[in-house]
Amino acid sequence: MLLYRIASSSSPSGTWAAADPAAPDRLRLLVSDPFAIPASDWQLGAEVAPGAGRLVPARPSKIVAIGRNYAEHAKELGNDVPKEPLFFLKAPSALIPAGAPIVLTPESQQVEYEGEIAVVLRRRLTRASAAEAREAVLGVTCANDVTARDLQKKDGRFARAKGFDTFCPLGPAIRVGADLADLEVVTRVNGAERQRGHTRMMVFPIVDLLVYVSRMMTLEAGDVMLTGTPAGVGPLAPGDRVEIEVSGVGTLANPVAAFRG
Ligand code: ZN
Repeated sequence: MLLYRIASSSSPSGTWAAADPAAPDRLRLLVSDPFAIPASDWQLGAEVAPGAGRLVPARPSKIVAIGRNYAEHAKELGNDVPKEPLFFLKAPSALIPAGAPIVLTPESQQVEYEGEIAVVLRRRLTRASAAEAREAVLGVTCANDVTARDLQKKDGRFARAKGFDTFCPLGPAIRVGADLADLEVVTRVNGAERQRGHTRMMVFPIVDLLVYVSRMMTLEAGDVMLTGTPAGVGPLAPGDRVEIEVSGVGTLANPVAAFRG
């Protein structure tokens, strides 16, 4: 099942809709609460008019992101593979949906894409076991962990470099019921492939990451975790179009725009 968050005149802040992966454009309103009811028991309502605005498919209290989780990517930036997961936070204010522009901030001369598999939680996790972590996942989606690489190097920390407005495209849908150990992520810029990674290439698997992070901070229903980027990161320029594709999710496509005060 594919889960979308859509805006309509009756619910401008968004409501959930679901589609069969075989017909992703035929959306029906989701009557059930996807955070309370398992997907197998979801009740679907009326068909959604085409053209309903598609929103970011999550409203997280925080976005946890994992660094250097693919050995080849750690190497390309001159870093060692970490001995335990390295994580940081991205600002929820950086979220944008598919189709919205990534704005190149004037504070940076080197804004780069990072295609990633993102996980959305359906329930709270604190000091979770592997089974609890697996059970708490609503599904997976595509993310772009946009990064001001020059500021990341200059600052030695990530809050500024990864926190600018528009630096977290997420979507277009949540794929529910995916095998968390068998997912591929592909990044294209202007149609040319730049990154290709698979969960089997990860230093730490997705479930282990959730277990680890939940020891340090409670993850809430709706929170999002970005699971690291494969090798092949590179710069963006105005007019570019970035696409991130994750197995069975669809494609997250965003144009890139220059900053205009
Ligand atoms: Zn990243």
